Amino acid sequence: MSPRRTKIVATIGPGSSQRNTLKNLMETGMDVARINFSHGTYEQHAAVIAMLRELSSQLDKPICILQDLQGPKLRLGNLPSEGVNLEKGQLVRLSNIHMYLHTTGMLSLPADIPNLGSISPGSRVLIDDGRIELETIKSTDRYLDAKVVVGGIVTSHKGVNFPGANLDIPCLTEKDLSDLRFGLAHNVDVIAVSFVRTASDIVKVRQMISDIEPQKSNMPIIAKLERPEAIENLNDILTVADGVMVARGDLAVETSPASVPVVQKQIIRSANRHAKYVITATQMLESMVNNPRPTRAEASDVANAIFDGTDAVMLSAETAIGKYPVESIQMMHRIIEEAESHFCDWGFCDTEKDQPVQDDAISTTRAARELAHDRNVAAIAVFTQTGRTAVLMSKARPEVPILAFTPEKTTYRVLNMYWGVTPYMVPYANTVEKMILEVENCIATQRKIKKGQQVVIISGFPVGTFRPPNFALLHTIGQ
Ligand code: PEP
Repeated sequence: MSPRRTKIVATIGPGSSQRNTLKNLMETGMDVARINFSHGTYEQHAAVIAMLRELSSQLDKPICILQDLQGPKLRLGNLPSEGVNLEKGQLVRLSNIHMYLHTTGMLSLPADIPNLGSISPGSRVLIDDGRIELETIKSTDRYLDAKVVVGGIVTSHKGVNFPGANLDIPCLTEKDLSDLRFGLAHNVDVIAVSFVRTASDIVKVRQMISDIEPQKSNMPIIAKLERPEAIENLNDILTVADGVMVARGDLAVETSPASVPVVQKQIIRSANRHAKYVITATQMLESMVNNPRPTRAEASDVANAIFDGTDAVMLSAETAIGKYPVESIQMMHRIIEEAESHFCDWGFCDTEKDQPVQDDAISTTRAARELAHDRNVAAIAVFTQTGRTAVLMSKARPEVPILAFTPEKTTYRVLNMYWGVTPYMVPYANTVEKMILEVENCIATQRKIKKGQQVVIISGFPVGTFRPPNFALLHTIGQ
């Protein structure tokens, strides 16, 4: 049973896709492996998924695999291999013609961008995460002319953002659809959707999953929040998505770096109020891409996300392409443990958290938390088919560990991403007596809870009817 509650999501890439490194990452504390479909080939992704599954059974450790769909990320086309230098004040053209041209007076960068004509003069164009800035002079459906405001060297395939513009591009591209088919066929556990704008984007993805594999229509979908419209529609998105990601990279480009800390707090608070899962992502330990130690600011950033109430923190380039993937996980683990030991002093204090709710399941998890605090309780045990009871228990943020028992293999893997939850695969328990037996067996194997200590068990009753939790039982170990 890990004393760490906040989970670690690590992005797998060329720096971590070797079997030994994956094994080290799992042993060091990776709870969720993120596969970013903006990069890599199907062959590489299939190999990583197979290795993760094999290591999971070899190490007897669950691992949740998150497929991150690229979404309509706009990119430059091919440029000369040495890149192209853009000078302040220079005129450039972004053009749907797939060719780099440099004629007298005008540089033309290839960029296949739909509805370019909707960009109004004066609006900003950002290239390469905002490193390069242009100002639009005029646009047509085939090209956009702009003046360089902040210059630098641009290379092939760098991202292009149009902050505040509505290019009316569907949230899922042809590539995403094909990637989704691949992911479902390879049994990924969770889908993350990029550049979500409205709740209907998530509804459409759910429909697509259900069209491809109807039995997976309830699989968790995470909305990546990186566009200002998504923040405006946050409550609706939280109603239909299973979770959200504070995708601070594109969010900072689409809004501004200055607004990210406050938006992060708003998103985490809203997700917690909706009892939905939340990941805080991007550049958390960025300097560890090249250095064995993070900066003080990065360590503080991770700790503050914990205090904000995030369920998970994510590593991107640090583990995907960095020189120190294992050290990054170790460092994140240590920062989280330290922050969590001060959670009561600095942790999120949501005054609305315990407002009355007309919801049996939430009231039952709150009752379980109170029972755990009042008595000599070592853990809360939840029995769950879909994982929903475990999410609700996790969101009640008890001080004791949550042991989640499930007979479902996919649920078992997904449970590993939730705050404070340790998953266990058990045979189907259809009576309270069998539940108690499973808890006792688990404790006997784990040897961390002693005879005489108590455990709160929550589940739906009648047992085996797959109902949301509506009873809590106080059980004394060994009696
Ligand atoms: C982000 O923009 O912060 C993010 C997590 O998305 P991606 O890594 O897919 O760009």
